[in-house]
Amino acid sequence: MHEMALTQGIVDICLQHAAGQRISTVVIEIGTLSGVVPEAVEFCFSACSSDTLAASARLEIRKIEAQGRCLDCSGVQTVERLYDPCRQCGSYALELLSGEEMRVIEIEVDD
Ligand SMILES: [Zn+2]
Repeated sequence: MHEMALTQGIVDICLQHAAGQRISTVVIEIGTLSGVVPEAVEFCFSACSSDTLAASARLEIRKIEAQGRCLDCSGVQTVERLYDPCRQCGSYALELLSGEEMRVIEIEVDD
């Protein structure tokens, strides 16, 4: 389960950012083509954050729809699966613009 390592990385970033303060909320983005399962991240987050200042943090996960641009017709579109053809011209030359990422976008700490 690669979510455990990824989530450990996220918890580390949060703890560094919080610099000794208690973390109340963590917001992360997960791209729909990242291969990361949000439910698994939630589970791993509880495991990785226990006994840290993020132990009681609320985890908010935002799913980001993947976007791709066709190299043939320049059409930008939502990509549901990797290697899907362009919806406008049928070309397979889609360049992925977003959707593979998983990142922390917001960390709130208790005052
Ligand atoms: Zn196209």
